[in-house]
Amino acid sequence: MKKKFAVVLACLVVVMMGLVGCSKAPSQSQEEVKNVIVMIGDGFGPNHLANAKKYFGVDKFAFEDHYVCDVTTYSKDSEITDSAAAATALATGQKVNNGEIGRHQGQDIENLMEIAIKQGKKTGILTSDSLCGATPAGFSAHTDGRDYVPYADEMAQDQCKSGIDIFVGARAGVYDENFLSFLQRGYTYETDNTSILNQLNHNSKYILQYSDLKSNYNHILENSWADWVDYPALITKVLQYLDNENGFCLMIENGYIDKYSHNNNFESTMHEVMYFAQMIEAVYQFCAGRDDTVVMITADHETGGLQLGDTKESLTDELYTSDGHTATNVNLFIKYAVDHKQKNYSAVIDNTDIFRLGKQLLEQGTFNFDLLG
Ligand SMILES: [Zn+2]
Repeated sequence: MKKKFAVVLACLVVVMMGLVGCSKAPSQSQEEVKNVIVMIGDGFGPNHLANAKKYFGVDKFAFEDHYVCDVTTYSKDSEITDSAAAATALATGQKVNNGEIGRHQGQDIENLMEIAIKQGKKTGILTSDSLCGATPAGFSAHTDGRDYVPYADEMAQDQCKSGIDIFVGARAGVYDENFLSFLQRGYTYETDNTSILNQLNHNSKYILQYSDLKSNYNHILENSWADWVDYPALITKVLQYLDNENGFCLMIENGYIDKYSHNNNFESTMHEVMYFAQMIEAVYQFCAGRDDTVVMITADHETGGLQLGDTKESLTDELYTSDGHTATNVNLFIKYAVDHKQKNYSAVIDNTDIFRLGKQLLEQGTFNFDLLG
């Protein structure tokens, strides 16, 4: 605001001096973007969304107004990507082989978090999966493979050295094995502690794991809430912690749309789509009334070859045509793009373009509308 006021003042002075005008007047009224949030529904295909609306009787989710285009997801060595290559494409802008995490043929590739840190921004990784899952790892580690053995240890070590301010995920033993390294790097290491979310200190780094931060739907089915972690509320706390003058970059993942789709468990999948929508809503509440934050919502790939159910009765496990990933394009929603440039975005972009949008935002604070066609 101060900068804008100064520009206006300078223009007035120039005009008062009788000169022709102020050629440096800003062409757009929006403030510089300083925060970038990437939200990934693992396995979240277009039919997951359409079926969830039918299943829950929802006319439209708010974020659907911000649909901009479809996204291709193929990896370097396969038409059908895995979560490792897809996360790497989103985080680094480079196609790698399935299984590779932030690295191709032994060569590390710079990711959005590393770019954000260079810009003096705060950074965070938040997932309902474990932190050594392919998606969070793709944004915070560099390894030749994604399997727990032998790569999880290397991922944990990479994350420890990454400089990322906050990690939140489901508990995995490899972090307990490496907890001393995290302590030495100045992290506060906590498991199953939700009260700490109310006292996050802006000057501290955190790795927080919740053994039960898994499937929200299990709690609904069992009607057991004692150890339930309210993920949307958790997101709100993490956003408050990350919010600062220089901005931040945050990756948020719901890992369970993919897991339930692999199992062809339709009902559970739908509940996880709804939970993802609630996570998005928490982020949108943070964005309300501010114009300095870009939220990009997408998927790493589609899982299950889910068909569209045309009636409520047809919404069953039978809609799955596969127990694996597919090459189906996924959706991209960007609230900021639609707010600032009303048009019909018709192009199909590649998942690596999402990195390019993020990189420009982090380095220049401007949105590259040209990338959306
Ligand atoms: Zn999967």
